[in-house]
Amino acid sequence: MEAIDFQTDFSPRYGELVEVAPGIRRIVANNPGPFTGPGTGTYIVGNGEVAVIDPGPMMPEHVEAILSGLKGEHVSHIIVTHTHTDHSPASRLLQQKTGAGIFAFGPHADLDAGALEGGVDRDFKPDFTVVDSEVIEGKDWQLQAIHTPGHCSNHLCFAISEADALFCGDQLMAWATPVILPPDGSIADYINSLKHLSTRAESTFYPTHGLPIENPKKLIAAFIQHRLDRIEQVKGALSQGVNTLTNLRKLLYKDIPSSLYAGAELSLLASLEYLEHQGLAAKTVEPSSQSQQWQWIV
Ligand SMILES: [Zn+2]
Repeated sequence: MEAIDFQTDFSPRYGELVEVAPGIRRIVANNPGPFTGPGTGTYIVGNGEVAVIDPGPMMPEHVEAILSGLKGEHVSHIIVTHTHTDHSPASRLLQQKTGAGIFAFGPHADLDAGALEGGVDRDFKPDFTVVDSEVIEGKDWQLQAIHTPGHCSNHLCFAISEADALFCGDQLMAWATPVILPPDGSIADYINSLKHLSTRAESTFYPTHGLPIENPKKLIAAFIQHRLDRIEQVKGALSQGVNTLTNLRKLLYKDIPSSLYAGAELSLLASLEYLEHQGLAAKTVEPSSQSQQWQWIV
């Protein structure tokens, strides 16, 4: 598998509003971790009358930092890329303090997330639902929504024409590939969303986590290839008869701690669902198995 040229040298000043381009500021929440990298980057669009994109996790100190950074300005819109707990939960708190309306694709899809339930924000409900291509207009900015399911089925990116830039949420990041976890996540949708984004003309993408992406088309091509390579590995294992989640995990994720087994198996399930979706694998139950373990055949 060809390595992706990741950029990891990002050490944000937590809780501080930083201008990243004219009319775009960022403030990073102090919630670093394996899925959030350096932390959730909340973006502020405009000057004076502003939009806040992804207020972040339920961290009152982050909301306080946003508000003190915006002293003397007015928050007119709260915009959410998707309903994961590092992006949407602080929306209501920010709304209580500012009165701004909350804009997003919709609540989290009504699917059982099982072991990953902790990562989804079931309480989130936008005041205004936003569809693909819709334009949200502020005083001195316009954001066009782009529906990009895959990482999360309600994921939106936002293009800002004033700045030749696009806010890409968790669709792309410079330091890691995002996790795609069924049932809400889908690799087929994710690859389609990446292909759609590769047709965009904006030259800078701002991800929620980590550094800006200055050559998005190149990174998108590498991300698509990375997914397809992973799927080929899974297909290769299936054709050798390694065909249960546990055995695939033992083969393809050799050195991970047991705390990551469930996540690794869900990632594998996403690849298997993709192969099924493409008609390249089928699911069957081992007849003699006590546990009725699923098997996949190519
Ligand atoms: Zn995130």
